[in-house]
Amino acid sequence: VEQSYIMIKPDGVQRGLVGEIISRFEKKGFKLTGLKLFQCPQELAEEHYKDLQSKPFFPKLIQYITSGPVVCMAWEGVGVVASARKLIGATNPLQAEPGTIRGDLAVQTGRNVIHGSDSPENGKREIGNLCCIL
Ligand code: ATP
Ligand code: MG
Repeated sequence: VEQSYIMIKPDGVQRGLVGEIISRFEKKGFKLTGLKLFQCPQELAEEHYKDLQSKPFFPKLIQYITSGPVVCMAWEGVGVVASARKLIGATNPLQAEPGTIRGDLAVQTGRNVIHGSDSPENGKREIGNLCCIL
């Protein structure tokens, strides 16, 4: 079954958006198969975002992700990876459509509340490697 790694970033946890976000995935009809509150160590954050390591914002991104606890989740269902990306909305919350999580709940790219896997392969890899929720 297809799986997506969904992570509520530190700002989402701090702002009390965990219930709201989980509810959106539940209402859509996906199945929650793993969940953990987790303080992401720097090395794991760097591994998770390694494709972005040459970007100028990389150090800030690692600082952000490690700034407080995240909620790591595994969600499964047919088409969950692409559907979760639609529910989440565009990377820049000002460009994310109203009705999406980022469109409704965020304003800054550097504080955009949530991560979702970008392919089924990465979904499996991130769930297996990242915070050992399964
Ligand atoms: P994620 O991988 O977190 O689900 P995404 O796939 O929408 O987000 P990516 O291009 O993978 O976007 O970027 C990963 C994260 O890096 C973004 O969610 C955002 O937090 C941060 N980021 C991306 N671009 C910028 C930028 N220009 N300035 C600051 N932070 C950025
Ligand atoms: Mg990404």
